[in-house]
This record gives sequence, structure tokens and C-alpha cells, in this order.
Amino acid sequence: MRSITTLDLQYAHRFYGFKGEAQYLHGHTGILTLEVEDTVNAGVNMVFPCNEIQKTAWEVLKNFDHATILREDDPLLPALLGVYEAQGIKDGAPNNTMKGPAFKTELATAYPECRLVVTKETMTVEGMIKIVYDLLKDKLNIVKITFTSGVNAASEEFKPQRTMERCPLCGIALDENGVCPKCGYRK
Ligand SMILES: [Zn+2]
Ligand SMILES: [Zn+2]
Repeated sequence: MRSITTLDLQYAHRFYGFKGEAQYLHGHTGILTLEVEDTVNAGVNMVFPCNEIQKTAWEVLKNFDHATILREDDPLLPALLGVYEAQGIKDGAPNNTMKGPAFKTELATAYPECRLVVTKETMTVEGMIKIVYDLLKDKLNIVKITFTSGVNAASEEFKPQRTMERCPLCGIALDENGVCPKCGYRK
């Protein structure tokens, strides 16, 4: 069975080098749907609590929210950083608090201090699915990701990686010692 949850992300991007309106910087509300598959955990009668899927995903994905997402070779990148630098907000601002841990993968690097994500490939809906899977595949047993942004949508299915040992009392994944990090249950 699957537990399914959605998150939304507000972001700005452009398709550098694309011959269409999307070559200009613009913004979207993107809706990301994550489907997590496993057996039903009999103790709580769930695959996985959806709020926990959201929490795990949001920890990383909040770096994309209210962010500018640019490809690594986009000349807007040095221009944007120049403006942020001159304005004194490149290395952070007191009200920029919704920051996840900085990450760097093959496909994307997050700079939470200035709400920027630099990508290897153009950040299309397809590109976002690749980035998100790469960031979350070891944390959640993701079998499908759907991402919609304006009239664009893409989805991809993935092979289940494994089954997770989950707490029979609150449903979240047990740590490597068989202990629930939330309620303290021991296997
Ligand atoms: Zn767009
Ligand atoms: Zn628990």
C-alpha cells in the first residue's frame, strides 16, 4: 500500500537558452506529490504517517521554497549574487529563517543563506523530480514522485528500495538500534 502526501513550493526560475517565454525569470507554485510504499504497519494501520513524510521531505525541500533556482552556467547567477552582495544579504538576513541544511548532490547545490539553488540541468518539472528523488531516496521508500508547476506536470515511478522497520505506536522509522526517535519505543 502507499501513503501519499503533497507539499507546495514557491520558487523563481528560468530556462536558460530556451526559445520561449520561460527564458525570462518567472515564478511558480509547484506542487510535489510523494508516494511512499511499504507494508501496512499493523500497530498504527498506516504505511507511514503523512505528516512525517512531509517533515522529512520539508527539511531538505524548504531550501527550494522562496528560492531562486538557476542553472550553473546561467549568467543571471553572478548577476544575482552581485546584487545580494552589494545589498548585504548574500550571506544571510535576520528574517531569512526558513533554512534547511545546505546540500550538494550531483544535480543541485543549495545555498540557504541567500535562498538560492544552483542546478546542473535546467529546472523543469522533470528535472525537479530527479533532484528530489536523489535527495530523499535514502530517507523515504519513495515509489512515485509527481511535480506540477503551472500547466506543466511530470511524474516518475521508482522501484521500492526496501521495507522500513517502523514504530508500532507512532508509525515512524526506528533508528539503527531499533528505538523510536519520537516516542522511545524499543523493539
Ligand atoms: Zn517556469
Ligand atoms: Zn514511536
